[in-house]
Amino acid sequence: MIEDKNPARTPIENLGEFGLIDFITKNFEIVHDSTVKGIGDDAAVLKNDKCSVVTTDMLVEGVHFDLSYVPLKHLGYKSVMVNLSDVYAMNAKATQVTVSIAISNRFPVEAVEELYDGIRLACKTYGVDLIGGDTTASRSGLIISVTAIGEQSDDKIVYRNGAGDGDLLVVSGDIGAAYMGLQILEREKAVFKANPQNQPDIETYSYLLERQLKPEARKDIIKLLNDLEVQPTSMIDLSDGLSSEIVHLCKHSDVGMTIYEDKIPLDPTVITACEEFNLDSTTIALSGGEDYELLFTVKQEHFPKIKANPNLSVIGHVVDASYGMNLVTRGGEQIPIKAMGWNSLKED
Ligand code: ADP
Ligand code: MG
Repeated sequence: MIEDKNPARTPIENLGEFGLIDFITKNFEIVHDSTVKGIGDDAAVLKNDKCSVVTTDMLVEGVHFDLSYVPLKHLGYKSVMVNLSDVYAMNAKATQVTVSIAISNRFPVEAVEELYDGIRLACKTYGVDLIGGDTTASRSGLIISVTAIGEQSDDKIVYRNGAGDGDLLVVSGDIGAAYMGLQILEREKAVFKANPQNQPDIETYSYLLERQLKPEARKDIIKLLNDLEVQPTSMIDLSDGLSSEIVHLCKHSDVGMTIYEDKIPLDPTVITACEEFNLDSTTIALSGGEDYELLFTVKQEHFPKIKANPNLSVIGHVVDASYGMNLVTRGGEQIPIKAMGWNSLKED
């Protein structure tokens, strides 16, 4: 399994709280003019003439991640990604983040450094400023809370509630891969427990593992839609699974939706892994979470602009609320969509 074999283990007490904060927050560059003051005072100061978009997500060890197979650098990266994804889902530009950590003394300074390497890579790649946070002790596991801030003019912000009858339902990328990546990791963990000499069999599924361990927020899709002059009528990011996000859009917009099984974008390795695990790939696409793709509705007139784009799939359309939410199967059968987040796939 992936384990920290780094021999250097400097106790956090050696640096103290302030030393640790200085150590982890150095080497972060400020790139936005809207960041008037970042780390170093009692509060950060931002200045902007647009609307601010603010979102927070907390990741808890043992609930959201398992350090026996999640490298800390990936964890740092992912904790920023899940927040940026929410900013992009508002059709906004992500500009700043704060990162708060509760950490137990079983972690050496080197572990915190690894976590921040991932956070720094995410900030750099996505062009966001780290402007503050908090550092505290934890008696049990590691907790990471990230707040992301974004900006957008008020006429461009996209909410969950704007879907209208006849709009097309579009999803970016492909879905179900992050969930199958988790299945592979959990299987390999079980194999490792039974026989630590076993080499993990993960090569074949590198795409699935990458989708689980190092997801990318779809900043590129927001840019693409802007370039195409397509303003979505409603939008949400796929953190919990397609079916529950469809339910959110429908509830907020007071509409129904019909989606088509044969239109759901699946990577071939998701299909292969589903066969191996004896799982139905459509169920995984509907219920598996953490893909961090964008799900949105657009007016039909935009169809010519998006139909040939390999990053976008039209999977259905908006109907009157009285029709409800339905999946049309490959066999032409119509079955109701229920909110089934990825947690409901777990047996415990
Ligand atoms: P205070 O006592 O006012 O809460 P701190 O000593 O906790 O201040 O923090 C000092 C500065 O370092 C602040 O700007 C704070 O936002 C920042 N900071 C603290 N912890 C972190 C962290 N884990 N990541 C990023 N910035 C942090
Ligand atoms: Mg503090």
